[in-house]
Amino acid sequence: MKIALPTAVLALTAACALPADAQAPDARPLAAVKVADAPVSAFLDQCEGKEEWNDPAPPFHIYGNTYGVGTCGLNSLLVIDPEGLVLVDVGTQEAAKLVAENIRRLGFQLSDVKWIVSSHEHWDHVGGVAEMQQLTGARVAALASAKDAFESGHHNPIDPQGDAEFPKIRVDRVLNDGDTVKLGANVLTVHATPAHSPGSSSWTWQSCEGTACKTIAYADSATTISADDYRFTDHPDYVANVWRGLDAIAALPCDILITPHPSASAMRERLASGKMEDKATCRSYAPDARARFAKRLESEKNKPE
Ligand SMILES: [Zn+2]
Repeated sequence: MKIALPTAVLALTAACALPADAQAPDARPLAAVKVADAPVSAFLDQCEGKEEWNDPAPPFHIYGNTYGVGTCGLNSLLVIDPEGLVLVDVGTQEAAKLVAENIRRLGFQLSDVKWIVSSHEHWDHVGGVAEMQQLTGARVAALASAKDAFESGHHNPIDPQGDAEFPKIRVDRVLNDGDTVKLGANVLTVHATPAHSPGSSSWTWQSCEGTACKTIAYADSATTISADDYRFTDHPDYVANVWRGLDAIAALPCDILITPHPSASAMRERLASGKMEDKATCRSYAPDARARFAKRLESEKNKPE
């Protein structure tokens, strides 16, 4: 399948929405960067049979100005604009270098990354943020509900998942539900979706090819797992938050669903079939998670206190 010419994408993005007098402050003409070809087929070939979080993958084009720059087992997304790049998730600490390499492979300098945003405060998604922050000089924006965990390098104490620590992250901008991170024509909206973790964040934005604009929904993980001896039913406030988070995920605008763990939304299968845009996948993601959580709560009834 032939993908749209990325240079054209950049030019179009600039033409549609960027004010004519807008200039990046450090004036490197990103609009002139020819984004390298990043065919999905290269990603699928290299990742065949590989799903580890640190298995290197090449960058791949998703839609419009949105690219995958993560590993075979973890997503990291790059949203391109002539004013700069927004990086969504970095993956593990080890993956930071792989993600950095993919950004370069697309033709950019690391200093072109101006913002880093994340899905949730677990080491497999934010372990590499501190290093990426150093490599790029980018600012980090995070929900208030994730800030303490980011800055302490440890998951929230009320989070039932026993998670490993990660390098502490400097949070430059604190966000509330519904806030936006804007860079050039790109507007990324954060949605508090506290199902998988208290600071869980989902992100939506528009990517366009010509006049065909799609809403990308980077919906956070929706699994509700815990240490063996933990019972959600002993924590009614936490349970209420989880339901609220799942409702918020269900309400996300969505043409193209992408999840931090590609396998959670059959990303490879969709890439292989050329159907990344799939309303059925958008629609079923939250209800499936709701059903699993209901089952979990039900099973706890049979567990001794
Ligand atoms: Zn997690």
